[in-house]
Amino acid sequence: MRRVLLSILLLIGVPALAQGTLPNVVILATGGTIAGTGATSTTTVGYTAAKVGVEALIDAVPELKKVANVRGEQVMQIASENMNNEAWLKLAKRVNQLLAQADVDGIVITHGTDTIEETAYFLNLTVKSKKPVVIVGAMRPSTAISADGPINLYNGVILAGSKEAVGKGVLVCLNDQINGARDVTKTNTATADTFRSPDLGFLGYMQDNKAHFYRQSTRKHTADTEFDVSNLDKLPAVDIGYGSANANDIAIKAYVAAGDKGLVYAGTGDGSQADGVKAALDAAHKKGVVVVRSSRTGNGIVARNGEVNDDQHDFVVADTLNAQKARILLMLALTRTTDTKDIQRMFYTY
Ligand code: ASP
Repeated sequence: MRRVLLSILLLIGVPALAQGTLPNVVILATGGTIAGTGATSTTTVGYTAAKVGVEALIDAVPELKKVANVRGEQVMQIASENMNNEAWLKLAKRVNQLLAQADVDGIVITHGTDTIEETAYFLNLTVKSKKPVVIVGAMRPSTAISADGPINLYNGVILAGSKEAVGKGVLVCLNDQINGARDVTKTNTATADTFRSPDLGFLGYMQDNKAHFYRQSTRKHTADTEFDVSNLDKLPAVDIGYGSANANDIAIKAYVAAGDKGLVYAGTGDGSQADGVKAALDAAHKKGVVVVRSSRTGNGIVARNGEVNDDQHDFVVADTLNAQKARILLMLALTRTTDTKDIQRMFYTY
């Protein structure tokens, strides 16, 4: 009898074999192009993001039910260029609540691609669990020919329910590739292969309904960080300045006047700063603003005491973090301390 049952299950397909033990995955929807709609099936620019609700996203991929017990929650419905600190705090709290439940094995977040890397890194530092958190998005709206949202959601759910993803930190999964939150960045305005982890490489592939990992980050994350946002409803103000030829101090002065507690400056090359910019950052530092030196190149280590004598200026270097991620780490660091040596330690830890 058992043998007959087994043969029937094998005929139906392998996922059915695991029916009783399917992982429980919660899909938190936040909007973005994955939930976008266009005027026609060939509209891939000029569409409207954040239109389709979470239930419709799930219904569009009936295969999800074969790989996990899924349920959805609409946490917000925005294009991700409107993502902000308050929304991150709300999302982090909800993720932590859900992951504390024994009946939740993993979480998938659907998200606009423009700031996916920032949300991923924020959660990588504030989620207090080793259970998988996977962020997915799409480069084509849901109404487009060959929309990439459904396959990305399908892969994301498998990944979030997999034991391979446990303890790997927050993951970003699009285009059959698994990237780590710390190093991933959007590199192309429009193509489906836009997400890259420059120089350091992505972590693995989604193929044949499985996660295949080949590497992982050595930096601390999730359950191993010192950050706790459970009682916070806002974060310290930190903004970004951007270096170029003919650079000036207008933005830096405005940020300081507005009351910023920290500034990240994406300098040229190895984080170099024009003399006038350096003077404005020194003046900011005198007012208690913590200054982090990052690079606009998007690759490589910003060398401490290299282009700028950081010891003398009491600046912090961003290590390999791009400016938008350095902003996140600096905000979280400032929830703990204003000591620049300690903040520098954090930039070499996370
Ligand atoms: N502007 C959109 C967003 O980030 C783009 C996308 O999702 O691909 O929400």
